[in-house]
Amino acid sequence: GQCSAHCPVGAIYEKDETKIVWDEIKKHEKHCVVQVAPAVRVAIGEAFDMEPGELATGQLYAALRRLGFDAVFDTNFSADLTILEEGTEFVKRFTEGGELPQLTSCCPAWTDYMEKFATDFIPNFSSAKSPQQMLGAMAKTYYAEKADIEARDMFVVSIMPCTAKKFEVGRDDNMNSTGFQDVDVALTTRELARMIKQAGIDFKSLPDEEADSLLGTYTGAGTLFGVTGGVMEAALRSAYYLITKEDLADVNFMECRGLEGVKEAEIDIKGTKVRIAIAHQMGNIEAVLNRVREAKANNEETPWHFIEVMACRGGCIGGGGQPHGATDEVRLKRTQGIYADDEKSVQRCSHHNPEITRIYEDFLGEPCSHKAHELLHTDYIERAAYKK
Ligand code: SF4
Repeated sequence: GQCSAHCPVGAIYEKDETKIVWDEIKKHEKHCVVQVAPAVRVAIGEAFDMEPGELATGQLYAALRRLGFDAVFDTNFSADLTILEEGTEFVKRFTEGGELPQLTSCCPAWTDYMEKFATDFIPNFSSAKSPQQMLGAMAKTYYAEKADIEARDMFVVSIMPCTAKKFEVGRDDNMNSTGFQDVDVALTTRELARMIKQAGIDFKSLPDEEADSLLGTYTGAGTLFGVTGGVMEAALRSAYYLITKEDLADVNFMECRGLEGVKEAEIDIKGTKVRIAIAHQMGNIEAVLNRVREAKANNEETPWHFIEVMACRGGCIGGGGQPHGATDEVRLKRTQGIYADDEKSVQRCSHHNPEITRIYEDFLGEPCSHKAHELLHTDYIERAAYKK
């Protein structure tokens, strides 16, 4: 597929898992819940004669209910959760001293690459799990507790723009916070489109529905995870608040946007300068890492404090599990769909998500608390590179 050139695991895991999900839904022995990633909502419409970039969030929720899922959640919710965890981690490293630059860890193709080919960066990786994994962990603990269901009786499916996400669900024991996998099966956007067609659902004419509560509400920041620069922009919106205890007057960080291979900026947080870099597409990443290595070798200050990496061109909107035929024109339209979703959101900063406030009050305590670390964080190790 389009992903195989830069996705170290995608080629192996490009397998159809829709049957496993159909079987589980039909058996109805388990409580089946589902989550949808940010980038899916601006691309799945293409499988049903809609324009690239057309937002189909409400129709997606409706389709998933009609397929038989017991609850429909949104990965955008857990993207907001990731920002609280990863943003707090960054602010701690930045203000209290810690390994810098911090590197984002939400893209499994990138973390997999790092564990095999850039192991000197292990201490730099954010320990935050990806939004997909965080939602699974919260579904099988927090939600299960509230709904009075045992973790073993839950089945969590995720709809992802990505083939590497199939590998991430079974990556290691850190992904089994309850003793069971946080996420049972990750399907691609294409696989979900197939299921919707198999069920004979007329996607285009579905009404807009809402996600289910507890793990379904999201802010504009959460949806930004679907594009290159989006995790950084979302993190900056909350880092500003965490550092200054004030909200930004203008939440748009235009420096983070666009298809340039490497974007750099210095962000002024009330006199504190934060230097950031954003790289997408694997080929652009080594140059960024090499500049950090050089500075280290020469005992110079790090060129950046925070770096976002996504393996796919344009970020997840251009992922290997999306409808085929992503040209830059298509990527641009999907990207516009993501920014439109952000702009129309009532809340645009992760720390203003009311369900996030509630999950900390009712369950997790503070960001990066002991409980949050147990359920929402991971660690990295050197792994043997696949040998031909
Ligand atoms: Fe998957 Fe997104 Fe990473 Fe691409 S950028 S490999 S779609 S997580």
